[in-house]
Amino acid sequence: LNNEDFRKHAHDLVDWMADYLENVEDYPVMASVKPGDIKKQLPLSFSEESESFEALMQDFEKIILPGITHWESPNFFAYFPASKSKASVLAEMITATLGVQGMVWLTSPAATELEDRMMEWMRDLLGLPQSWTGSIQDTASSGTLNALLTAREKISNFSINQKGFGGMPVYRIYCSQEAHSSIDKDVKIAGFGLDNLVKIPVDENFAMIPERLEAAISEDLQKGFHPLFVMAAMGTTSSTAVDPIESIAKITQKYKLWLHVDAAYSGAALVVPEFRWMSAGIEKADSFVFNPHKWLFTNFDCSLYYVKDVQALKNTFSIMPEYLKTGADEEVNNYRDWHIQLGRRFRSLKLWFVIRSFGAEGLRKIIRQHCEWANWLKQQIEIHPEFEMLAPVPVNLVCFRFNNGKMNEQELNSFNEKLLKQINEEGKIFMTHTTLNGKYTIRWVGGHPDLTKAHVERAWEIIKNYIS
Ligand code: PLP
Repeated sequence: LNNEDFRKHAHDLVDWMADYLENVEDYPVMASVKPGDIKKQLPLSFSEESESFEALMQDFEKIILPGITHWESPNFFAYFPASKSKASVLAEMITATLGVQGMVWLTSPAATELEDRMMEWMRDLLGLPQSWTGSIQDTASSGTLNALLTAREKISNFSINQKGFGGMPVYRIYCSQEAHSSIDKDVKIAGFGLDNLVKIPVDENFAMIPERLEAAISEDLQKGFHPLFVMAAMGTTSSTAVDPIESIAKITQKYKLWLHVDAAYSGAALVVPEFRWMSAGIEKADSFVFNPHKWLFTNFDCSLYYVKDVQALKNTFSIMPEYLKTGADEEVNNYRDWHIQLGRRFRSLKLWFVIRSFGAEGLRKIIRQHCEWANWLKQQIEIHPEFEMLAPVPVNLVCFRFNNGKMNEQELNSFNEKLLKQINEEGKIFMTHTTLNGKYTIRWVGGHPDLTKAHVERAWEIIKNYIS
């Protein structure tokens, strides 16, 4: 493509993008293809000759688009939203065009310094402690791995990095039974061994029971293990349950353990001061992870990792080969030393665009509305004789099921599974499921910036109609 071709296709593409966003509700929300449907339309081999942009777009529309689940539809109520905003898309266009590699300050000073500032803005927007700092990463899984590795290195005086685990105590990691599976994966990768991840029971609201945490720690100490790290969930994946950070922090301080808070999803609600009850005690934590790419209208990927002891973080990850040295290393942040990867995307630009284009008050208004509408849905479910709520609604996730009181638990599970399948296959809305206390649970979560009360009411009508 020469520059003139690029200009023309880019203009056409922007029209395509705007049309797509305008008409996104016309597509079935969940892709209705079967495994292999897309692949069999793709040639076994690549073309030797250059192909036109028109041919590419034709195939994109014909082959790829039918296999897309439309995360951008306001009728997407599945998993957790990864809803971006138009401002964020525009920033991504610039990022892609600049192709910046922000591994050290010198590779693009603006990328580093905007990231410095965005981490400060977000810290203040979420009401996190002033002394905290951190960097933007790809995912919460990476942030939690950073926390585990830094805790490991700090406790071992950075000797595991150097010499390996030989002769070291057996470290124990704790999280609730409802914690996200990324902690299991991270514990494996960090070398602790999955057997040393202790899952603490939860209460009737699916939040960790601090007394059970303390009991597990005491028992481990008696057995000669070395308790090291606790992860508290500020918003679990199944039900957005909130572990009591303040009570957990008292225990981590008493036993001198690292406290990491996983607020990957619900962290967005902290922009609204009335939701800060969820983060009470946060100043006693050692690290915190939150994904603006989930519910803060920023394109995937954008995950913020904050840490109290930044020097320990840098000591854990820092490597200084000659070819990466710059004259400014003492004065600036070189974010390559703050996590695993060297090359890094210029992610702060889209966050800057999002915060400036919505304004803090604009973000608060949307988050408040989402939570209000989720509570409206909760009320409809509570007063309906044939549906029941299965968990509290701290933010905007509603966990429920059909229950007419005439089926046993097994029958209810298979009825609700079929109900969800039918609703999703119709394509008007898309929800996913979990299990809570062994009960098949339908999850509805509305987090799109263009969501309206009418979308929520329509979703409820669709759900109700299936059983009438
Ligand atoms: N923590 C929680 C509570 C989550 O819900 C998720 C994903 O949904 C994660 C961690 C992992 O997030 P990521 O995909 O950014 O690694």
